[in-house]
Amino acid sequence: MRFKRALREVRKDGPRASLEALETLLRAKPPRVHDLFKAAFEEKLAHRGPKVKLTSTIHVTNVCRIEPKCAYCGFAAGTSPEGYYKPFERDYDEIAEAAVAIEEAGIPRVSCSGAYRGDGGKLAVVAARAVKENTNLELLINFGPDLSEGTIAELARLGVETVCCNLETVNRELFRRLKPGDSFEARLEVCELVCRYGIDLSSGLLVGIGESPRDRAEHLRFLSRFDTLAEIPVMGFNPYPGTPMEDHPRCPLLEQAKVMAVARLAYPDVMITAPTPTIGPEEVEVALMAGADNLATVIPDNHPHEVKGVGNPRTGNLERVVELVRSVGLEPELRTGGGEACATSCSKPRTRSTRHLN
Ligand code: SF4
Repeated sequence: MRFKRALREVRKDGPRASLEALETLLRAKPPRVHDLFKAAFEEKLAHRGPKVKLTSTIHVTNVCRIEPKCAYCGFAAGTSPEGYYKPFERDYDEIAEAAVAIEEAGIPRVSCSGAYRGDGGKLAVVAARAVKENTNLELLINFGPDLSEGTIAELARLGVETVCCNLETVNRELFRRLKPGDSFEARLEVCELVCRYGIDLSSGLLVGIGESPRDRAEHLRFLSRFDTLAEIPVMGFNPYPGTPMEDHPRCPLLEQAKVMAVARLAYPDVMITAPTPTIGPEEVEVALMAGADNLATVIPDNHPHEVKGVGNPRTGNLERVVELVRSVGLEPELRTGGGEACATSCSKPRTRSTRHLN
């Protein structure tokens, strides 16, 4: 199929466009990539405006009971000397302290993530309470498939805006090979439960792990089944030393950005997320030009924890990210005191003590 026809079809039909049309765009080469990014950027401005959401991170635990570990994982305890390596679990006060610091820095949103402890996500509830009882931050919870229905119901009750459960790839054979201890069906079930409880769903793709452009096209279509789909994170593979995939090549930035662009065209009203560790903290402009409207793992200088990115230990520093967003003529969404979102600069930090309501 010719590029222009594919572009017209995806713009018109969104995720219901033919796989051929989606794949044609995903396979775009220069100079067509320029046209693809131009169209994606236009859609971003038309549907999402000039603002760019910033999302910070609190890692709640890296204790993962999945065995064997996923082949690319450098996050779970014991997987990579460049990751956290040592096991940790953060308590209510530690999470609240970090959340307050993030809010004081002006960042409007935080992601609290944890690994698979196998208890249905008990720490997810602790994290949600710590954030919601002490700040006005928007909150995303990501505990992978380790969320029971009871936990999801409790997260809904606590006013958690978004729950993330990444499928990574819809190529089941590849999923089984790289994630032999994980379960695609369990992840799918969590996504469906999140929708059933009316919480915004975030579910993304890990690009560059051996999947084909057709797999990526199928994945983008697959996501349309989720009623509350509100965010698509597009991660790019980076090899973590010491893991079974340490010699697998890094996902080229252009491949990752093309998936963002096609996701933007297929889902013009959905948040498209570029995690700064996997796009490369200095390369966020490429993601923005490809239509992304949320930069994740943005870490302010006052963050009390050492944060290592999932997929890559480097993270985006708040000040630098703000500079880069402005350099492409977009507006980083920052908050002034009192929790009001604005698109200007950070306000003076507020002092606020954490409330422990246990
Ligand atoms: S990717 Fe997630 S589920 Fe897989 S080993 Fe790492 S922490 Fe565990």
